[in-house]
Amino acid sequence: MKIWDAHMHCYFSGDSNASPVEMITQAKVLHLPGITFTDHLDIDYYRNPGEFDLDIPSYISEINELSQSFETEDFKIRCGIELGLQEHLVEEHKKLLETYHFQEVIGSIHQVQKEDPYYPEYLMHRDVKTAYQDYFDAILSNIEVFHDFDTLGHLDYVKRYIIKSAGLEADYAYKDYKEVIDEILKKLIRYDIALEINTGAFRHGLLDPNPGAEIIRRYLQLGGQMLTIGADAHMPDHIAYGFDAIPPLLKNAGFTSYTVFENRKPIEVELK
Ligand SMILES: [Zn+2]
Ligand SMILES: [Zn+2]
Repeated sequence: MKIWDAHMHCYFSGDSNASPVEMITQAKVLHLPGITFTDHLDIDYYRNPGEFDLDIPSYISEINELSQSFETEDFKIRCGIELGLQEHLVEEHKKLLETYHFQEVIGSIHQVQKEDPYYPEYLMHRDVKTAYQDYFDAILSNIEVFHDFDTLGHLDYVKRYIIKSAGLEADYAYKDYKEVIDEILKKLIRYDIALEINTGAFRHGLLDPNPGAEIIRRYLQLGGQMLTIGADAHMPDHIAYGFDAIPPLLKNAGFTSYTVFENRKPIEVELK
């Protein structure tokens, strides 16, 4: 089946050179029902201030113009955003979301105590256990203070980089972080925030998406109903990467549908 890819970046993001037209063209080649651009905004990015700024007016107007030119009955294009959450940015994020209209808002943790797990320094003064724990704790404390977003991006993003530096045996087990992960999932449910299944993990050589089946199952068990799906593409070849694995995985976990956001409202799509 063809799944809507609801997480991707183009040249409006500090870490992508892809033109949105190329992304759209590739999505059409793949016969996806739709895509949502979710370019990065990480205000106050500690490492290189300004690297993940976003020219929001130009971004929205360019994507909306392209939607008008390229949308068809069977293919839709939406303009969302991936917000890099930090506790001191709550007021700024609220104001921003009142000012600009996005179709979908992903909330993601890219910085923990002014460090990005993407870089080796995150692991230099943490053991593996602390590296996971600090990341999950950061998600929880951010959701507690700010929950005006639609889906939680890549819940165990940190795993990609821990495994890259410490090997596959540094994978984690849900049971070792059950307390904090359950709290995160319960908060998502309470605030009507979806859980994202991010297949970008497959490109990093991982066997599960972020997060994997055990957490997806637990989310359902706790009453969670909304899953968004995204490949986190930063170039056309990455669009819908690994999506073939998703329907069986979600069905095994007990889901019969996934969610797409339109004007920040969830729409349920049947998993065929
Ligand atoms: Zn992200
Ligand atoms: Zn992303």
